[in-house]
Amino acid sequence: MKAIIIQIFLAVMLPFAAFSQQQETPPIIIEKISDNLFQLLGGRGANGGFYIGENEVLVIDSKMDKESVEGIFTAIQGFTKKPVRYLINTHADGDHVNGNEFFPKNVTIIAHENCRNEFFLPGRDGSPSRWNNEELLPFVPQVTFNDKMQLHMGNQTIEMYYFGVGHTTGDIVVYFPKERTAFIGDQVFKGRPQLIHSYKGGNSFEHVKTVEKMLEAIDAFQFCSGHADIMSREDIEQHLVEMKKFQQKVKKLVNEGKTLAEVQAEFKPEESRLVESVFGELQ
Ligand SMILES: [Zn+2]
Repeated sequence: MKAIIIQIFLAVMLPFAAFSQQQETPPIIIEKISDNLFQLLGGRGANGGFYIGENEVLVIDSKMDKESVEGIFTAIQGFTKKPVRYLINTHADGDHVNGNEFFPKNVTIIAHENCRNEFFLPGRDGSPSRWNNEELLPFVPQVTFNDKMQLHMGNQTIEMYYFGVGHTTGDIVVYFPKERTAFIGDQVFKGRPQLIHSYKGGNSFEHVKTVEKMLEAIDAFQFCSGHADIMSREDIEQHLVEMKKFQQKVKKLVNEGKTLAEVQAEFKPEESRLVESVFGELQ
């Protein structure tokens, strides 16, 4: 009996062991934007950033494992001894927030109120959210806002904005006026199809309006994305043009009475998910 149990155990565990060995967390890479503001690339999870204020440090997004968070802290300590006091989550996707639990408990986590709500929603496959586990509650955003929030760090003011539904229902923009730089999470992708989480209430048509509002409201000249190189205003404008074209093409095919599979067949395979989102929005 014991032998059978061990065999079963090995059969279950071995694939995991092989998986984790293959997927070693890549090192954190820092990209300097100014003496105070840096992008955090590499690790496991999305691109984020950190800002060194007069007395403390602010981190944007937490990547998704312990090694990545340790890498973030080591990277910061290479520049300053000031403590990390704030963590901002741009939205609730795992690759931006799963590292939250490896931050010290005294770090204040800030997000949009819809983002906090999305922490507790079931996943795309309907499975319950692990954030419902009480032990993780201290790592769910504690401070939330609605339209705009300002964070005063010594002589600098960091602005956080909510421009509406898009990629999810709770995506924010973190704007550094002195650097004229915005951290936009997953609100705009470049070089790959835009991801719209329809199951969380994301919407591609709202996404276009939301991004247009962002360009009007803030004077950033560069935009740091969770999954792309730094973008210019022109890159964002180009993204909007392409997104509208994409939506028009789906709309035309829907009006011709085509099914989802038929519409998807008219696009590249990697665009299937975005087609599904737009198609669903048009029903
Ligand atoms: Zn995302």
